[in-house]
Amino acid sequence: MKKISEIMDNAIVIDTHLDLLPDIEQKHRDGRSNVILEDYLDSFKKGHVDVVVSSIFVDSELLPELGLKRAMEQIAAFYRELDACGGKFVLATSAKEILDARRQGRLAVMLAFEGAEPLSAAPSLLRTFYALGVRILGLCWSRSNWAADGSRFFDFDYQGYGLTEGGRELVALAQELGMIVDVSHCNEKTFWDVVEMSSQPILATHSCARALSDTPRNLSDEQIRAIGRLGGVIGVNGASLVARFKDPRNASPADLAAHMMYEKNLAGAGVLGIGLDQCDRLNSPTMQLEAFRDVFDIIPTHDGLEKLAAALLDQGLSEDELAGALGGNTLRVFEKVLG
Ligand SMILES: [Zn+2]
Repeated sequence: MKKISEIMDNAIVIDTHLDLLPDIEQKHRDGRSNVILEDYLDSFKKGHVDVVVSSIFVDSELLPELGLKRAMEQIAAFYRELDACGGKFVLATSAKEILDARRQGRLAVMLAFEGAEPLSAAPSLLRTFYALGVRILGLCWSRSNWAADGSRFFDFDYQGYGLTEGGRELVALAQELGMIVDVSHCNEKTFWDVVEMSSQPILATHSCARALSDTPRNLSDEQIRAIGRLGGVIGVNGASLVARFKDPRNASPADLAAHMMYEKNLAGAGVLGIGLDQCDRLNSPTMQLEAFRDVFDIIPTHDGLEKLAAALLDQGLSEDELAGALGGNTLRVFEKVLG
């Protein structure tokens, strides 16, 4: 059997969820610069990571008034780093740009909304963000917004709304522009409303299987199958509270592999992906909430990704299936929707 590092080197490796932009924007306000080069690039390299999808995320205390401003500040912080990086990473808006970057040995960063709050109930603003390079539309976080309602971690009785009229308009515009819709954090109603509107693959950029970690934040069997039917991908979430809701303190890479093996059995190996959702280095007010006290990163930095790959081989995934799970499947979705 090939060495894990060799398999990972040959595979395209894509993390579909990292709060990179909020982190660099915060650090710029603290007087730093070149955060991606100084804090991240080395561990991306050691983890064989080719592509990171960075969220644009606004803490609740700034909403609604300052959502648009903070989103623009996060994108500005990214562009500032891009200008100064000497070509070490690129902004990628398509599968082709990702493959070009990989050939040139450059990291590719793709931009994604985690919550439509910054669009301020004006769906047409999505065009502006598309022009700035954003390609993935995560409709909500674990809260309600003008476009859609999110799932909650703790309240199993919670009944929210699905896509609003504005939310439907937003999803239709995303489809028209050729953006990928991300259903992580969506509650069930929102999820099914999106599926009903979709003929293209969708992503759940950072979610686990509810059957193994019982919280409404995770995907039911039916949801996993629906994502598979659309040709979509589920990025396994590496946050302890998501992966092992009842007993987060004992979460390990084997739990993440177990989620993926479960999803493979339901929807095929083509549905597998990785969205680690690392949060330990985040200083956001949201993460200081009591409800999140048991959240730690099962894979704290990307150089630990080999542990997840080893756990997957251990639990019976083939080398080809592993290559797909590491990023090949996600690249397939990018190719189909973004070109
Ligand atoms: Zn999230």
